[in-house]
Amino acid sequence: MKKLMIFVAILAATASCQNSNDGSGEVMLTPLTTQEKADILFLREEEKLARDVYLFSYDLYRHIIFNNISNSEQTHMSSVYTLIMKYNLSDPAGGKQRGEFENAVLQNLYDSLASQSSVSLLAALKVGAAIEDLDINDLSTNISHTTKADLLEVYSSLQCGSRNHLRNFVQQLEGINGAYEPQFISADDYNTIVDAQNERCGLVY
Ligand code: ZN
Ligand code: ZN
Repeated sequence: MKKLMIFVAILAATASCQNSNDGSGEVMLTPLTTQEKADILFLREEEKLARDVYLFSYDLYRHIIFNNISNSEQTHMSSVYTLIMKYNLSDPAGGKQRGEFENAVLQNLYDSLASQSSVSLLAALKVGAAIEDLDINDLSTNISHTTKADLLEVYSSLQCGSRNHLRNFVQQLEGINGAYEPQFISADDYNTIVDAQNERCGLVY
């Protein structure tokens, strides 16, 4: 028993070397900058936008890609939620229905993308590619705004997932003689992504 107590004490001492600890048992986090906070809150709803647009398209077309990728966006939302909880932020997606957003820019974007998606399956797949194109670009911006390892880990795994989603949407589009032109990332980055194989993305698809 005594040995165990010593072992626990050593563990606690090691832990307090890695994280500043105020003795209350709560790990003191380096506070988020205003920019980091804004990025996390926006990203939480941006992932919700992707999920909700794909659910909308799945209801209309019953194409499996929208089911699969909306499930993946749910895991992306959960990854961002872990940051919201960790840093004690107020969740903008809390209590929101499908298609409902706190951020007015994202509300307008959702309304517009849902309307475009309702035109045809081809239009809905193009909307999917555009959402992933936007997400990859916004995540690069988020990455440039932080040096925090926990934020970088979430951003990179979400960006990896978005590259997979972009490839999948483009493949489906090309399968029905559609095409997509990147609107946010560069043509070089776009070509590199669509020419590569799907990646394993850590915790998320
Ligand atoms: Zn996502
Ligand atoms: Zn995605």
